Amino acid sequence: MRTGIEVDDARRLVLEGAEPLPAEVVPAAEARGRVLAAAVAATRTIPPAACSAMDGYALRAADLAAATRSAPRRLALAFEAPAGGQAPRPLRPGEVARIFTGAALPEGADSVVMQEDAEGEGAEVAFFGPPARGEHVRAAGEDVRTGDVVLEAGCRLGAAQLGVLASLGRSQVRVHRRPRVAILSGGDELVEPDEDVAGGRIVASNAYSLAAQCAEAGATTLNLGIARDTREDLARGLAAGLGADVLVSSAGVSVGDHDHVRPVLEKLGFRLVFWGVEMKPGYPVTFGRFEDGPGPCVFGLPGNPVSAMVTFELFVRPLLLRLAGHSVLTRPLVRAVHAETLRKKAGRVHFVRVTLAREGERLVARSTGNQSSGVLRSMALAQGLLVFPAAATELAAGTQAEVQVLDSDVLAAPDPMNAAAGRFAR
Ligand code: AMP
Ligand code: MG
Repeated sequence: MRTGIEVDDARRLVLEGAEPLPAEVVPAAEARGRVLAAAVAATRTIPPAACSAMDGYALRAADLAAATRSAPRRLALAFEAPAGGQAPRPLRPGEVARIFTGAALPEGADSVVMQEDAEGEGAEVAFFGPPARGEHVRAAGEDVRTGDVVLEAGCRLGAAQLGVLASLGRSQVRVHRRPRVAILSGGDELVEPDEDVAGGRIVASNAYSLAAQCAEAGATTLNLGIARDTREDLARGLAAGLGADVLVSSAGVSVGDHDHVRPVLEKLGFRLVFWGVEMKPGYPVTFGRFEDGPGPCVFGLPGNPVSAMVTFELFVRPLLLRLAGHSVLTRPLVRAVHAETLRKKAGRVHFVRVTLAREGERLVARSTGNQSSGVLRSMALAQGLLVFPAAATELAAGTQAEVQVLDSDVLAAPDPMNAAAGRFAR
């Protein structure tokens, strides 16, 4: 087991050998956020035939070669091209067909003149100039042709991708299975949220913040409840999670007399890969793999609520994303000016909870307050984690630092209407 390692090395050890989970077939309507396990090839052509991109008249461009504003050309209105069907007959030279957006071009027509550029007069329509051949016509297969690979394996299914699947008539889709995470809370002081806290008890809130973090990373969760600070109870609780892909326990990984998680994990058949990462909060974070046959990876996260969340962010989240098939495993990193001077001892990287605000061209980071690892409230206010590098002892106010963005909404301008006016009108 390695101890006192760097954040990047710890993350590398966690991801080592981790592969996307096997595929399963799910209804496309329930596949938002999932990752394709196999490429999707088109079994149809879209649009299926050349069709109109405008409301207007389908015709042959050559018939209007001599048309001008002063000498308009009048053509006979033959029929209306039906949406979603076939025209009753081919269009003859000198004829036009009324047509609406999306309707197939009648045979014989090669262009569409929009209705604003024509004047219908009973059985005839007047035109004031020649269209370019093919104008306002969508070619068959302009979007997709049969056989095209339209979505690659590894593609994340969002709104547009789900629309593409529907347009191809695909109601089922092969995606990577979601990771299953079992969550155990350990500690004699812990109670469930609806239980009595008299006598200094505290709610096992980590189970809730961690479950939400799992869900945000696309995993499903099983809450294993609270284990008491005995080896037996911990072993029983942890053993209940051996069927998961990832077992996450919080608390009991420090060096106190009641911190039994590490020995119990080893006894259950886990090999501990590391314990202790040079970071604050979260130093005691532990990671292991089940070695007694197939079984989960395990994280022993520190019990302090902020430590648990920050170590989840840095180590558990990337693993869950990899298992779910994603290729981007980390949050966006931005450079921000920090408002106050920050100081610490050299040695460990600090992740400082900050708010982020756009101020003109700058992004400004401000501490959310008390940075103790027990103060969850300052995590609730945080929009990013400012990286105070291991070797640094001071970050002077007004200088720049890297911030791992937790809430990408903050990168948008605060006033959407003004931003739109300023940005889109130019
Ligand atoms: P430990 O890692 O057991 O030393 O716990 C460190 C701190 O985290 C203690 O103040 C615990 O009460 C607190 N803690 C432990 N488990 C949880 C939990 N599931 N939810 C909230 N706080 C916890
Ligand atoms: Mg404890």
